[in-house]
Amino acid sequence: MKKIVIISGAGLSADSGISTFRGNDGTWDNHDLDVVCNFNTWERNFDAVHDFYNERRKMLRTVKPNPMHTLLTEFESKYEVYHFTQNIDDLLERAGCKNVIHVHGSLTKMSCEQCGEIWDIGYTAFDSGNHCPDCGSHKKVKPAVVFFNENAPRYAYMWAKLSELKPDDVLIIIGTSGVVLPINDIVASVPCRKVLNNLETGDIRLDNFDYVMLGRASEMAHEMRHVVEGMMK
Ligand code: NAD
Ligand code: ZN
Repeated sequence: MKKIVIISGAGLSADSGISTFRGNDGTWDNHDLDVVCNFNTWERNFDAVHDFYNERRKMLRTVKPNPMHTLLTEFESKYEVYHFTQNIDDLLERAGCKNVIHVHGSLTKMSCEQCGEIWDIGYTAFDSGNHCPDCGSHKKVKPAVVFFNENAPRYAYMWAKLSELKPDDVLIIIGTSGVVLPINDIVASVPCRKVLNNLETGDIRLDNFDYVMLGRASEMAHEMRHVVEGMMK
């Protein structure tokens, strides 16, 4: 049976109103990523880190999945799909996806670096009244998001699934610059059919793809359905 591997990034959620990493609307540009997203220094910058993620979480409550999130949910219900998202938002789940692997963690979860506990915080803020439900620590609690200089334990499963791809399978890349995950190397190394949707080419090498859709993810859902369904026949 043919299968699909999806690797998605910030561009998938951009049309829902969540800004991309290096986009032009400033959400991330106004913050020093080295301060709010660095595993080596997060404890020193505790308040700035939590302020930043509290703000992102509050905003997440107000946004909605777009047609591309819905289409990827539809694929999951029809085919054998392994979806690895770099996104920390929960829009795929809110669109109905059940099996998304968040390789960079989840905004709606917290983790305790003291005891390893991970729990749901929903769209609420982590403040002085919040502690780890297991060991009671406050100072060792961080957003359950993979920071720079931090291990990403779910990568191993992603590499394993990529290495199993066969010529008839389909790899879908959506909304990622390929700066964090090495998309060019991944695409060059797998023998299957490959489909890309990004707003612009950026540093991604297009010649390795069988089908390229440059444009907004929410507006490409129709074309994406058509292309992928054709490949899965
Ligand atoms: P990135 O910001 O580096 O690149 C975004 C990519 O999306 C670009 O290639 C751009 O062409 C494309 N894009 C922008 N708008 C688009 C649209 N409307 N439709 C289709 N494509 C569009 O994102 P990245 O590669 O995912 O890396 C960013 C890192 O930051 C990730 O590790 C992720 O964890 C984190 N991040 C997550 C979110 C989120 O959870 N929604 C948002 C920002 C950043
Ligand atoms: Zn704890």
